[in-house]
Amino acid sequence: MARIPHVIAGEKVTDAERTQPVFNPATGEVQHELSIAGTQTVEQAIDAAAAALPMWRSTSLTKRADVFFNLRQLLKQRTPELAAIVTSEHGKVLSDAAGEIARGLENVEFASGLLHLLKGERDEQVSTGVDVHSVKQPVGVVAAITPFNFPVMVPLWMIASAIACGNTVVLKPSERDPSASVFIADLFREAGLPDGVLNVVHGDKVAVDTLLDSPKVKAISFVGSTTIAKYIYERAAANGKRVQALGGAKNHMIVMPDADLDMAADAAVSAAYGSAGERCMAVSVVVAVGGVGDVLVSKIKERMEKLVIGDGTDPASEMGPLITAEARDRVESYVAGAEAEGATVVVDGREAQFEGGGFFTGVSLIDHVKTDSKVYLDEIFGPVLGVVRVDTYDEGVQLINDHQFGNGTAIFTRDGGLARQFEFEVEAGMVGINVPIPVPVGSFSFGGWKDSLFGDSHIYGPESVHFYTRSKVITTRWPNPDQSKVDLGFPSNS
Ligand code: NAD
Repeated sequence: MARIPHVIAGEKVTDAERTQPVFNPATGEVQHELSIAGTQTVEQAIDAAAAALPMWRSTSLTKRADVFFNLRQLLKQRTPELAAIVTSEHGKVLSDAAGEIARGLENVEFASGLLHLLKGERDEQVSTGVDVHSVKQPVGVVAAITPFNFPVMVPLWMIASAIACGNTVVLKPSERDPSASVFIADLFREAGLPDGVLNVVHGDKVAVDTLLDSPKVKAISFVGSTTIAKYIYERAAANGKRVQALGGAKNHMIVMPDADLDMAADAAVSAAYGSAGERCMAVSVVVAVGGVGDVLVSKIKERMEKLVIGDGTDPASEMGPLITAEARDRVESYVAGAEAEGATVVVDGREAQFEGGGFFTGVSLIDHVKTDSKVYLDEIFGPVLGVVRVDTYDEGVQLINDHQFGNGTAIFTRDGGLARQFEFEVEAGMVGINVPIPVPVGSFSFGGWKDSLFGDSHIYGPESVHFYTRSKVITTRWPNPDQSKVDLGFPSNS
């Protein structure tokens, strides 16, 4: 069985201390062995990144930009191959896998504009003969720690900007679907990135803690669950690093009585069940306002019945399996407990039948969800959509603002004034108006509020340039022939 290697200074390294199986979630079979890095291997990767730093930070901006132009072409050409890798280890359908590569490409395109992004500022003559200018310099060695659910897009959220800004990187991808990161490192190399600028180490808490504690690592970008995000933020900050740690979500979609209910039902189904609900921007709660609940629930149910669930490599499939057997059991436990929490299970995904040993579950719809229940409060991270009924818009917004998470949210309405009010007062980092998954395009930055993000920098886009650079301000005075003629009041022969 092939062992997935680390990539350190351009070399493929298989650490023999520990290994872990990588499954194909559609069959339940182990398809690869993964090298799990011990402290020593992670330190080698950090040293490789530190050694490459002086060379990379002094590489001209045009040469750096060239890498991103080349990478863009390579990623486009190799999308089918990379999508197949994602589907085989994550389970999402091939079109979803290609979709995440397309979203990741936006970050590569953004990074290719680095000449513009890294421009400093200059003020002439702040005092007589004195000028001031600023430059943006790299932070140093950056660690990128990523979750399983977007094994291409989330690494690119981080590493594209970090490398463009002149940093060198140690990427620690999810141990559940690690092959995409090795493929991306190979593409970067083919695009002309020198060895050591991007290193990949596979591992678990041991690897992560080594990155968090190493004095050579200056910044940490993390995306994953809230418990781990908080831990990463606290430990990295205590070690004096800059850190951005994006956590979990529970995204609400408010549906007003004046909304186009077919449009809202289509949106709810694709946003709740796409990628088996394993998206941090998935809609997991529909807030039905002022009596739209019955019609909306029946429209959603009607659409759910047509969803095709199966192996992601089958072009007919619209939803694949969950990432692991444990994830499936956890998701199903919420459906099992829903009635006892006072809700009504309208569609029970546990009743769907699947052949073989894949980690499949069906789609679930739970109505009349109580806001003090686990189904409402917890991030389920699976194909389970809850419906909460409220009488007024104000009650709906209050629910969102009171929730622990504040990643994304959406409103469906035809009332522009109300939509504007929602935009103004809702406590979430990303807002959709008749758009269920409002992931910002690559020229903006991505991030939630409350327990969906620890740190003050959102990820990718303009805020990433801020996060991955240190600004330096230079104050300059030069002897000036003209100014030497100015009579300063001293005797000329003194
Ligand atoms: P996770 O928190 O289990 O793992 C994320 C990373 O942390 C992995 O690389 C993993 O190896 C590492 N890790 C896990 N346990 C650790 C520990 N005890 N100590 C140190 N490191 C540890 O998350 P996941 O299950 O891979 O991904 C799903 C979660 O990610 C969901 O909560 C989802 O909402 C969140 N997510 C958030 C965003 C966002 O932008 N806010 C985007 C994608 C995913």
